[in-house]
Amino acid sequence: MAETGTDIAANLSAVRGAVDVAAKAGGSAPENVTLIAVSKTQPAEEIERAIEAGQRVFGENRIQEAQAKWPDLKARYPDVVLHLIGGVQTNKVKAALDMFDVIHTLDRPKLAAALAREGEKLGRLPTCFIQVNTGEEPQKGGVLPAEADGFIKACRTEYGLPVAGLMCIPPADEEPALHFALLKKIAQRNGLDGLSMGLSMGMSGDFELAVEMGATHIRVGTAIFGPRRVSA
Ligand SMILES: *Cc1c(COP(=O)(O)O)cnc(C)c1O
Repeated sequence: MAETGTDIAANLSAVRGAVDVAAKAGGSAPENVTLIAVSKTQPAEEIERAIEAGQRVFGENRIQEAQAKWPDLKARYPDVVLHLIGGVQTNKVKAALDMFDVIHTLDRPKLAAALAREGEKLGRLPTCFIQVNTGEEPQKGGVLPAEADGFIKACRTEYGLPVAGLMCIPPADEEPALHFALLKKIAQRNGLDGLSMGLSMGMSGDFELAVEMGATHIRVGTAIFGPRRVSA
């Protein structure tokens, strides 16, 4: 695999520096922000450069791709934490739990039931973020804002899932601040607080704004790894 020439270590340190500045501007502590390096489409060699630069938290959006790349990396770097940031079909839940520590795309009762069931078999439940479709886009996953309160409650009580917070992907052509604010409002009105007040929001183009507005988890791909290798 040819090198891209992307200086991943330098990009990581630039992103971390920007997170520091944004956290201070927003009145939060930089160490409360988890930087998820989104490595989808990137080959294992590039991921390893990020690991060697000290990065330990990664995100992938496809289970099959993760299964191809990560078992070997995880065996060599057991302290890596893997987040699933793409949608998951209910028949892939077991595979998802085998591979991922955290799931950001919990968005329907059927998936909640499958996660609870498989988690019980495994004796370990995944940390879950509930995805909210703040832009109400038909092609996007996520529970609709109007249905979020009921679904959050069901996940916590009926399904007994450890809900760590909420996640959103704002529409590409809209002001992300409005969506970040809406996500935070939904979290607050549902009493997601303390350790459960996770807000997974912010990507390469808007992570600084997201951190200023209270993001606890940012999902950053191209700003670290450069352009994606294939469309994803
Ligand atoms: C690809 C992806 C990201 C990272 O996007 P960048 O713009 O490359 O930072 C973040 N979140 C989700 C859900 C993604 O699919």
